[in-house]
Amino acid sequence: MKSYKILQNAKNLKKLVIAIDGPAASGKSTTSKLIAKRLGYLYVDTGAMYRAMTLKVLQQNISLDQTETIGRLAKRTQIRLDQSDGELKVFLDNRDVTQAIRNQAVTRAVSTVSMIKKVREVMVREQRRMGKRGGIVLEGRDIGTVVFPNADLKIFMVAHVEERARRRQKELKKQGVKVSVEQLVKELVERDRKDSKRDISPLQKAEDAVILDTSKMTLVGQADFVVQKVQEILKKR
Ligand code: C5P
Repeated sequence: MKSYKILQNAKNLKKLVIAIDGPAASGKSTTSKLIAKRLGYLYVDTGAMYRAMTLKVLQQNISLDQTETIGRLAKRTQIRLDQSDGELKVFLDNRDVTQAIRNQAVTRAVSTVSMIKKVREVMVREQRRMGKRGGIVLEGRDIGTVVFPNADLKIFMVAHVEERARRRQKELKKQGVKVSVEQLVKELVERDRKDSKRDISPLQKAEDAVILDTSKMTLVGQADFVVQKVQEILKKR
């Protein structure tokens, strides 16, 4: 693709920080991965970090209301995102948990663990460290508002909840898990509610973010939209 080549040659390309936020299953991960690949950028799935922390809490049988214990645990936890094979792998204390963090128990508990101040402090510090040189696409809930409020490009992805539920259902099917769309709609609404209503770093659109409604868009169309925005920014520089 022509525009892709132009972008790869652009002088300032490595410096951009791209923040992609939005509710669960709005298409952030697949789109961010593709954008990062096209631009030769690093891709950081911040949700995977909160999921890994949640997995550890569940594995240690810590009750979700033990916020202080969980906060202390976060400080002693090593979460590493590895992209060496082209695919993103997630390591929790040096164990590969890429698959395990996608299970339903983690998905149902993650919003509660993500509300804990100490947990967020640890994750945000690490995310800022990873992004400080730029050349990065970070996706999550608070990237454009809290982690990188000065990001070069902020996208807020949305999609109708039924469409998001269908996407989640497809993902789960690949894991051999059968859940109805109705059930998934309920779970998504509940997770979005918790993520949006929490006191610290709630899910919300940054004032200067561009809304991208992916309900009727293809993956390539979504990536093209963002790459086009990157081109516009680079032209102005
Ligand atoms: O993106 P994903 O759906 O995997 O994120 C899982 C959960 O992690 C979210 O529902 C949210 O509770 C939490 N999260 C967060 N802040 C981020 C990314 C994810 O609180 N930046």
